Amino acid sequence: MIIPKTLEEIELMRQSALLVSKTLGMIATELKPGVTTLELDAKAEEFIRDHGAVPGFKGLYGCPSTLLTSVNDQIVHGLPTDRPLEEGDIVSVDCGTVMNGFYGDHAYTFEIGDVDPATKKLLQITKESLYVGIREFRLGNRVEDVGSAIQRYCEKEGYTVVRELVGHGLGRKMHEDPEMPNYGKPGNGKRFVEGMVVAIEPMINLGTRNIKQLNDGWTIVTRDGKPSAHFEHDVALVNGKPELLSTYQYIYQALGITSNEEDEFRAKPLVL
Ligand code: MG
Ligand code: MG
Repeated sequence: MIIPKTLEEIELMRQSALLVSKTLGMIATELKPGVTTLELDAKAEEFIRDHGAVPGFKGLYGCPSTLLTSVNDQIVHGLPTDRPLEEGDIVSVDCGTVMNGFYGDHAYTFEIGDVDPATKKLLQITKESLYVGIREFRLGNRVEDVGSAIQRYCEKEGYTVVRELVGHGLGRKMHEDPEMPNYGKPGNGKRFVEGMVVAIEPMINLGTRNIKQLNDGWTIVTRDGKPSAHFEHDVALVNGKPELLSTYQYIYQALGITSNEEDEFRAKPLVL
């Protein structure tokens, strides 16, 4: 059952989402060759607790870490390790918080130094597909309108869409209804309702869409060892339209990137 949120609740969720955004911005300043994902994980936990919140993943379903850090052919759910990041790696950093009783859940795939052009393009297209999907999250549409738009956008580049892992409703629980697959048929699935909040999160592979899980019981990798990208925003349906609760602006500030990709989704701030 979809649980719509009031405007007040959406404001609380925005604070939780923005804390994840700030955490990812902090991580962006730390990412360089030689750093381990375990070190990043410790910094993220400290940062979140310093801001009066608690990590959203740690302890959830037995997850041992604050961040999930998926490197190169790892798709999602990568557990932090003591392997130093290397020039040319990509690392998807997924982070959750609980603040005000609500979850934030938000991810970005970072480049470590110079990344090969084919992988760079995979990241670019995957991030663009996130916004292509978000645009379809509006009143009158249904769940698979989002997924099919993401799928079309990525498959026309020859990429593949992971089937086994999907986006989701978000709220007082990390995973609420509905599931938000990154594939589907236009016009199919549950109808969107005013006030609902979802995490939209394309997981897109350069090669095969098939996956396997590592022996750690968590990390999901591509079956062919080719790279995978993952970007995730939290989005509320307000006045019939998508409103971004999370932002990549903290990451872009840290990395010196200029982008107006989020502007068209940023309606005027809600008046309570
Ligand atoms: Mg996530
Ligand atoms: Mg998620």
